[in-house]
Amino acid sequence: MLYRRMPKNGDELSILGFGCMRLPLKDGKIDESRAIDQIRYAIDQGVNYVDTAWPYHGGESEILLGKALADGYRNRVKLATKLPSWMIKSREDMDRYLAAQLKKLGTDRVDYYLLHALNGASWDNLEPLGVLEFLDQAKKEGRIVNPGFSFHGLAEDFTRIVDAYPWVCCQIQYNYLDEEYQAGTKGLQYAAAKGLGVIVMEPLRGGNLGVSTPPAVMAIWNEAKVRRTPAEWALRWIWNRPEVTVILSGMNEEAHIKENLSIANTARANTLTKEELDLVERAGRTYRELMHVGCTGCGYCMPCPSEVMIPICFEEYNRMYLFGAGEEVKSRYAVRMSGELADGRPGYASQCVACGECLDKCPQHILIPDMLAHVAEEMEGPKLTERLAAARLILKIGAR
Ligand code: SF4
Ligand code: SF4
Repeated sequence: MLYRRMPKNGDELSILGFGCMRLPLKDGKIDESRAIDQIRYAIDQGVNYVDTAWPYHGGESEILLGKALADGYRNRVKLATKLPSWMIKSREDMDRYLAAQLKKLGTDRVDYYLLHALNGASWDNLEPLGVLEFLDQAKKEGRIVNPGFSFHGLAEDFTRIVDAYPWVCCQIQYNYLDEEYQAGTKGLQYAAAKGLGVIVMEPLRGGNLGVSTPPAVMAIWNEAKVRRTPAEWALRWIWNRPEVTVILSGMNEEAHIKENLSIANTARANTLTKEELDLVERAGRTYRELMHVGCTGCGYCMPCPSEVMIPICFEEYNRMYLFGAGEEVKSRYAVRMSGELADGRPGYASQCVACGECLDKCPQHILIPDMLAHVAEEMEGPKLTERLAAARLILKIGAR
């Protein structure tokens, strides 16, 4: 296992972290003994950063991880979990959730405590509620050690959040399709330049860059002199960046864990050749050509007077066409657009009234209202309410 140093505190962290968002299931619940075996096996092989969050597996992930870290495993890892920022209505809520999380995890401290899934709106909600004072206080009391945040918003919001507090780390979505999406490469470099460690999530875009590879992309990988799986290309491309500290992978198959561990033994920064980087660039370009909307997620079209979350509508629409996971993507669309994980304000494609205000702002010249009509037609329809209700149950969020 290779290790990289967290810049502000000197922690030597395994470049592969264990993410507990997609643990193995049995009869619809976490397969407890298998999940514990997997986590402990990864730790035995050198993984020392484990990550969970309040909503994962309907609240069960933190409990499972607490069990996995018994029998001496707790002291062998840095433990990360996250404050469910969208559920916070008051300063008291912050202490309440942290106390409950410590109990669920069976520990007296969280080594890396992140504000979960920040974006501009959730940050503007949390900051006035006193979240920075909460972090300082929790740190002083030893309930948390290193404060950080995870991010799913626009690039300009990322930099202002980085600048707002002496964070130790941030967690961003990053892979070779998301170089210009959300924080993106610029955000990665900005955070690293400010001394933050960067934890990368979604290295395989929810597993999709590792499975169901479109044939046109597979043909590119087959040209490589060194044969690697699509997942290995995706992971090595991220680890090639020296700014990255840890990649979190949600590994729930023993074979994937072994594969990832083996790559993490040799994936040093700045080792991919120009030829190899060109291949990845071509694979990324091919993926983008297969997408139905050429949206880069830049956000220049925002805000929309009807509050449509335009880039996210297009992101989910593309996801459906690239990876063919129709029902799963539609459920995800239902909950993301409902706004219930952020500020509570919905942003569905069907809210578009075709005012045209966004049209001139899009550098990709996308006919936004026309495309949104397609998104609404294909991703909403009569089943939208049903999908949202099911997602609420899974995430344990109440109807607004
Ligand atoms: S055309 Fe639709 S998406 Fe664009 S600004 Fe108007 S309402 Fe919003
Ligand atoms: S629709 Fe255009 S302006 Fe809006 S996020 Fe996508 S690329 Fe950017």
